[in-house]
Amino acid sequence: MYDIKQIREDFPILSRSVYGKPLVYLDNGATTQKPRSVVDAIAEEYYSVNANVHRGVHFLSQQATDLHEASRERVRAFINARSTSEIIFTRGTTESINLVASSFVESQMQAGDEVIISQMEHHSNIVSWQLQAMKKGIILKVIPINDAGELLLDEFEKLITPRTKIVSVMHVSNVLGTINPIKQIIRIAHSHNVPVLIDGAQSVPHQKIDVQELDADFFVFSAHKMYGPTGIGVLYGKEAWLDKLPPYQGGGEMIQNVSFEKTTFNVLPFKFEAGTPDYIGTTAFAKAIDYVEALGLENIAAYEHELLTYATQEMKSIKGMRIIGEAEQKSGVISFLVGDIHHFDMGTLLDRLGIAVRTGHHCAEPLMRRMGIEGTVRASFGLYNTKEEINVLIEGIKRVQTMF
Ligand code: PMP
Repeated sequence: MYDIKQIREDFPILSRSVYGKPLVYLDNGATTQKPRSVVDAIAEEYYSVNANVHRGVHFLSQQATDLHEASRERVRAFINARSTSEIIFTRGTTESINLVASSFVESQMQAGDEVIISQMEHHSNIVSWQLQAMKKGIILKVIPINDAGELLLDEFEKLITPRTKIVSVMHVSNVLGTINPIKQIIRIAHSHNVPVLIDGAQSVPHQKIDVQELDADFFVFSAHKMYGPTGIGVLYGKEAWLDKLPPYQGGGEMIQNVSFEKTTFNVLPFKFEAGTPDYIGTTAFAKAIDYVEALGLENIAAYEHELLTYATQEMKSIKGMRIIGEAEQKSGVISFLVGDIHHFDMGTLLDRLGIAVRTGHHCAEPLMRRMGIEGTVRASFGLYNTKEEINVLIEGIKRVQTMF
């Protein structure tokens, strides 16, 4: 059952106040708060297990390794990957994309080949490709969007040429909330034998993901946006692709044998995990997965959709309100501007009322340019937000309005 009172009690930070006002945390797109079970897991492992993982003969090292590898299995089951060989632990979405961009461009692309991204991408899914493109003369092509903030699929298909080697798009926009039709995108790309990377940073916390059903070639996300710890992320890749890609970083763990003349690499997933992994983080990450699965992703999605519908309707009743991103399929994110109040002023004044929202370009400057704006105020919902908090936000916006 979705017991919101109990849920909120699981997140101690939600009961604190800021500037003497109860905290209303609506910046979940940037990062989510952590339930007690996640934070406790970190302390418990440091207090009673801590030892470096893999290759250790002693008890603690084996126990830490078991926990770490059990977390990998937990992630595998969570997104329904075929094998734990396909689950690479990284620092987050950003590192996962950089890894693929680097290894894929190096091994699979030649000068003049093309990568397709979209107009609404986060900088991490733009600049990672640009860095590689600059080195090798790769061309970046961009799927356009309509004014509601939806990808133009017909235009997408027209962009594909024999030189298209990969498509890399986000599942859910961190600015517009648009849920992109990735199944269709993957199907279209595959019909041209082009693999697809999906940036799932903003979808994994809010809907059930099945990488096999999607048939995604690569799927990336961050633990901290789904109630887990910072510093941990996932690169899911189909084994056939990961086998073809060269290592991203060199160091311990990723090798089989090293000599000064020749080094051979470890098997998957370790080939891509150089150095000591954040094994404490992976244990806590597994707890975050336990948490959202106990609530049920379908229930979370339904609850957040209700919040989105309510908030959208209430916000539209505010004079001068402009919502940026009105896609038919939308996740719990509302970007907005009110009259000619600068987004930064709105955010700063809402903060004084205890309301945490994000302002600015949200790491999506090309999208801002497309929408003809410099930035927005963004409220993004999580599984613990309430209609009462939305009411506080609405009242807050109205109050700020009276100050101008
Ligand atoms: N992609 C999207 C869609 C995001 O929203 C974010 C975080 N704002 C990222 C990538 C980057 O995630 P991280 O900072 O956890 O690497």
